[in-house]
Parts: sequence; structure tokens; C-alpha cells
Amino acid sequence: MDIIDSIDDMQNRSLALRAEGKKIGFVPTMGCLHEGHLSLVDLIKDQADVCILSIFINPIQFGKNEDLNKYPETLDNDIARCRERGVDFVFVPKKEAIYNDEFSSKVIESILSDRLCGKSRPTHFDGVTTVCVKLFNICQPHYVALGQKDAQQVSVLKKIIKDLNFPIHIKVGPIIREMDGLAMSSRNTYLNPDERRDALLLNQSNELATRLVKSGINDVEIILKEIRELLTSVGSIKIDYVEIVNKHTLEDESIVISEQSMLMLAVWVNEVRLIDNKVL
Ligand code: AMP
Repeated sequence: MDIIDSIDDMQNRSLALRAEGKKIGFVPTMGCLHEGHLSLVDLIKDQADVCILSIFINPIQFGKNEDLNKYPETLDNDIARCRERGVDFVFVPKKEAIYNDEFSSKVIESILSDRLCGKSRPTHFDGVTTVCVKLFNICQPHYVALGQKDAQQVSVLKKIIKDLNFPIHIKVGPIIREMDGLAMSSRNTYLNPDERRDALLLNQSNELATRLVKSGINDVEIILKEIRELLTSVGSIKIDYVEIVNKHTLEDESIVISEQSMLMLAVWVNEVRLIDNKVL
């Protein structure tokens, strides 16, 4: 496994692999790797000849008062886990190399990005799309693996790839959870034991919605009301949003559940913002 920090070096290696006819698979991450990230490595290795995983804490996707300065960094452990899992290249670019002093470009998707997380994090997806397009140009992937955990991110990146004609196939991996149902996330490391317990209400909300739909209830407002009550049954949780949307358009499902409906959750557990989702 090679660890590369130079953009030119990574791009030259990727172009050379392409010229040899190799299929390149790519997993973009911000590090603090867990099984959710590593499941995407497995997914990519099923498709591609070569797996590149990037670790880059992208400053421009964090808002002013967000957790950029405390975002967990565990590089040595991440590299060891990549090696064990059969990653071929770990790309760890420096912040100053990705965004030099003269950097002045942005890639913006302007419909899906404004919904859901976009309302409380207005510049977040512009940061995600800008860095991902840069990483795609550097790593030259045929396949990119993304996690369903960040369902809106998947929709936005699929849209950018379609709108801008990138020759890339997106592979989406399922949400990987802890044994007790909490979706794995680098931000779970911020939770104290009480908050960690309260955070279980996210997946319990997914289960509640699934149960209600199975029992024949398909009224969106009834389901949302039950979920809001469950989530706010503990004092530590504040709802950012609880919505049932069409999984393709991310538009609110107006009245009744359909085959395309997806429950989208974002909550604050005290100071920690967590998201989860479930296709119903
Ligand atoms: P991040 O490091 O949080 O930017 O995540 C990098 C990639 O890993 C994104 O495509 C995420 O959706 C994916 N990911 C993060 N957590 C999980 C999880 N629990 N299950 C599956 N994929 C995940």
C-alpha cells in the first residue's frame, strides 16, 4: 500500500493506471475510519482493480461555528486499517495544497443542496461538491463508493456527476451500525455515555416508522408526529429536522407514504449533530 500526499504524484499514478487499462475505485473520507468507511472499501474492491481511499478533513464544508477544529484525527490507525483491508493507495493531501492562497473556484448544485441539511448548513454541500470534484480530477476514478448514511450527499453528488458528465459510476453502501443500532459516525466519539444512550432514539425512530408503515399507517403527518414525540422524550435531543421525502428528489412526501419514501433525521444530542435515515 502506498501513502501519497502530493496531488501531482497521485494524479500521475492515477493517469498511469488508467493508461494500463486498470479500473480505479475511489472512497473519499475525512478519516477517523470505522467499519462504515471500510465497508465502502470492500464494495469498491468488488468492482475495481485498484482502490484509492482519501483522507482529507475538508475545511470548506464546515460552517463557521461547526466542529472543524475538533474533528477527530486518527491517521496512524486509519493507515493501519486501510492496509489490513487491502486499500492500494491512501491519498492524504495537505490543506494548503488542496486550497492554495489563490484558490477561487466552486462547484455548486443548487436544488437538492438547499433541502434538509442544506437549511441548517447553507454552505455545506458547496464545500462537499467542490472538494469531491477536485478529488475526482486527481484520482480519476471509474467508480466512487459513498455511504447511504449521508443520503443527501449521495443525491447531490449523483446530480453533479450527471449534470457535469463525469464518467463515474456511484456505488452506494448500506448504513453500517453499531450492535445497538447507532449508525457509525466519526462524530459518535464526541458523545458521553448518557448522550450515546439517547442517540439510540435515532434508529429507534427508523424502527418506529417502519413498524407504523407495516401496520398499515401511511399518513405522513401521523408518522412524523409519533417520531417527533419519541425523539423529544429525552431532554438532550433537539430536532433539526424530521422529514419524509421522496428518495430521488428529496422533496417532502405530501400526504401518504409511497415506495419511494425515505425518513430523514437530523438531531442535536446536546452539542453533537447526528443524522440517520431509513427507506420505508
Ligand atoms: P466521512 O468520513 O464522514 O466524510 O464519510 C466518508 C464516507 O463514508 C461517506 O460516503 C459516508 O457516507 C460513508 N459513511 C460514513 N459513515 C457510514 C456508515 N455508518 N455506514 C456506511 N457508510 C458510512
